[in-house]
Amino acid sequence: MREIERTEPLTLAGAGLVGSLMALFLARRGFQVDVLERRPDMRRETVEAGRSINLAISARGLHALRQVGLDDEARRHAIPMRGRMIHPLAGELTLQPYGKDDSQHINSISRAWLNQYLMTHAEGTGKVRIRFKQRIQRVDFDSSTLTVVDEASGASREERVTVLLGADGSGSAVRQEMARLPGHASTQEPLSHGYKELSIPAGPGGSWRMEKHALHIWPRGTFMLIALPNQDGSFTCTLFLPFEGPVSFASLDSPSKLTAFFQEQFPDALALIPALTQDFFHNPTGSMVTVKSAPWHVGGRAVVLGDAAHAIVPFFGQGMNCGFEDCGVLDALLARHSRWEEAFAEFFRLRKPHADAIADMAVENFIEMRDSTASPRFLLEKQVEKVLLNAFPGQFLSRYTLVSFSRVPYRLAYEVGAIAGRIVSELTEGLTRAEDVDLERAARLVRERLVPFLEEHKDGFRIEG
Ligand code: FAD
Repeated sequence: MREIERTEPLTLAGAGLVGSLMALFLARRGFQVDVLERRPDMRRETVEAGRSINLAISARGLHALRQVGLDDEARRHAIPMRGRMIHPLAGELTLQPYGKDDSQHINSISRAWLNQYLMTHAEGTGKVRIRFKQRIQRVDFDSSTLTVVDEASGASREERVTVLLGADGSGSAVRQEMARLPGHASTQEPLSHGYKELSIPAGPGGSWRMEKHALHIWPRGTFMLIALPNQDGSFTCTLFLPFEGPVSFASLDSPSKLTAFFQEQFPDALALIPALTQDFFHNPTGSMVTVKSAPWHVGGRAVVLGDAAHAIVPFFGQGMNCGFEDCGVLDALLARHSRWEEAFAEFFRLRKPHADAIADMAVENFIEMRDSTASPRFLLEKQVEKVLLNAFPGQFLSRYTLVSFSRVPYRLAYEVGAIAGRIVSELTEGLTRAEDVDLERAARLVRERLVPFLEEHKDGFRIEG
């Protein structure tokens, strides 16, 4: 088994969000890191819009940034979003707070800014070299050889590596090569919905034309529109629609159908998106996939992390957060182990159940966002949940709170969330106002069902670092 030698150069596939952060962690541990990135350097050339213009960063992602000293600057570039602003088909807008108070919020941040910031800091250590337009095409784990294509010239060549870390995203070449090995498996479950980005420009003087501190949602059952604020006063909207069917990307095939659809479903948004037709027919239609793979490593020779290991659908806003958490965990394991194989095996053992849990929660949240958020019953349940969060601090915990505002392992968040959800549902039965919730009954249910679970799993709630 290969010893972990800090003098050995490591090879990392992908300078996306996770790859850049992992490179920085490794450099701080003293490793030389050679990063191969398929795309051009986005700091010098305009790169085709990525997977989303902005994204939500929350406790887990911010913690990982704190570990490398970059969270303060990231917060300065982010906009706090304190709740979901629901835009119903008819009637008033309603804000559903995410947490017990405004201190519990998620943050909208520019993907491009964050990626560039991480790359620059990784390179700034003097230990990370990023080579752009270099695509990994093949990996031969027996001989530890990569086939790399230079995207500028089209020429391919072979490169020897010692240890390979694959952070090359949901379509990972490294994972796909791993999946060919005996004992390895990988599944990809594509979503039948795709997404399209649209833009709401800033108002006069760079002002925001809707509430700035919210994630806006237009829930419409089988489809939805969302919008996140940007620092320049604009919002980036994402329209999630089925690929095929009566209301789908396939059916909206002309500007007149598109405008009629928006007039009918999203009239307030339509008034704010002047370039709707241009955005819709020119921006790419993105696809989403859940990737589950196992194991995530080949002995001590290679490991995958981030989307490369476990891509998830974006409806919990956790893909990057989970990938950033991977980086912190792997970094800690490299301090604890003397052999690569042991560190990688423990990384897989520790992270796999949690990656699976957030993958499942993300799919469930899709239904919640596009459907349930529109229902009065859901709104009432959220209000009851808030009452309980404030009435029983540390005893009543909701799934959303644990996932977004804590670093409690995802699997526990999933299980606590299921128990808490049932309690809320029972207490909401027959209620018309959240203030009328029966707190005595609530206390009993929390004591009987949640407290024993929390007690039994208390080690899981003890987070280090
Ligand atoms: P990527 O960001 O995909 O980076 C992979 C990198 O590897 C890229 O730079 C790519 O060019 C490079 N690469 C790929 N193949 C090769 C190759 N063969 N050779 C060399 N380089 C290669 N997450 C959140 O936490 N919050 C959100 O709000 C959120 N919103 C999202 C919205 C949408 C619409 C989508 C699609 C995703 C969202 N996510 C969100 C998920 C998040 O985008 C991903 O989890 C995150 O980008 C994963 O980072 P990564 O570095 O693992 O992969």
